[in-house]
Amino acid sequence: MTKSKSANPHLTAEREAEIGELAEFIAEDRFPQKRVEPAAIAKSVGIGVIPGYYDDQFDGMLEHDSDRFFIYCNLDRVESLTTPRARFTLAHELGHYYIPEHHNALKSGNVPKHPSHCDHESTNPIELEADHFASCLLMPSDRFRKRAKRVADGLEGIRQLAGEFGASLTSAAIRYAKLDVQKCVIIKWNTDGYGWKWLSPTAYAEGWRKTIEEPAKLVPDSATEKIVSGSSSGGDIVSTGTTAAHWFPFVSVGSYGDCLLKEEAVSLGRYGTLTLLSLAE
Ligand SMILES: [Zn+2]
Repeated sequence: MTKSKSANPHLTAEREAEIGELAEFIAEDRFPQKRVEPAAIAKSVGIGVIPGYYDDQFDGMLEHDSDRFFIYCNLDRVESLTTPRARFTLAHELGHYYIPEHHNALKSGNVPKHPSHCDHESTNPIELEADHFASCLLMPSDRFRKRAKRVADGLEGIRQLAGEFGASLTSAAIRYAKLDVQKCVIIKWNTDGYGWKWLSPTAYAEGWRKTIEEPAKLVPDSATEKIVSGSSSGGDIVSTGTTAAHWFPFVSVGSYGDCLLKEEAVSLGRYGTLTLLSLAE
């Protein structure tokens, strides 16, 4: 089963909790009340960070060589070491360093190099674990929830949270859904079509699972259609009203579950489009 056809590719709850605790402990210990700086954490444990231009091969790569760890950071994809994408990449590679099983595999030489793409696209459990570590390190749950209460609902608020935590809009949106700040569904559209989705736990419990996955089925002039078709461009958030039956094929028109939804969409530039579905006010 490919990621694009699956719902959330979950780790077990136990594994997720274990990795989350590890990452959040490091965040709270090293950067209490302050934005977490993954490059400073790498430096403090003696990891060499090596920026370079490596085409599309990877975003980041952790390597163990001559008793030392190195993170290669691909500027062709992350642009500079301070972009949200670079920060997530560094945090992801720190996940491979701090998660004992990943660390030991690299150190033993069984897996001497670990190239990673930080697109939230992978279904490989090792990558999912490092992504989860990165999310928890950069956006510790207590702080994130506290700040989320003080910002607007929806994409506008998520954009503000992303700025405050130095995370990409996509990473902040996934964190928002996973922490169930609102009952919502996040859908990522790549430039060539559907990418993936994340459901908040309450959205999953509601039965909002399978969604439209073909751009051709989007409602004309809906927020997502306007962005995906290019009729609305730039970084503006477009918002339109919709219904559950429009988005979820298993919810029939006029049924109990066919509630009014707010559909918001925003362009991610070369990385596609992000849609957020939430309950209409
Ligand atoms: Zn990785």
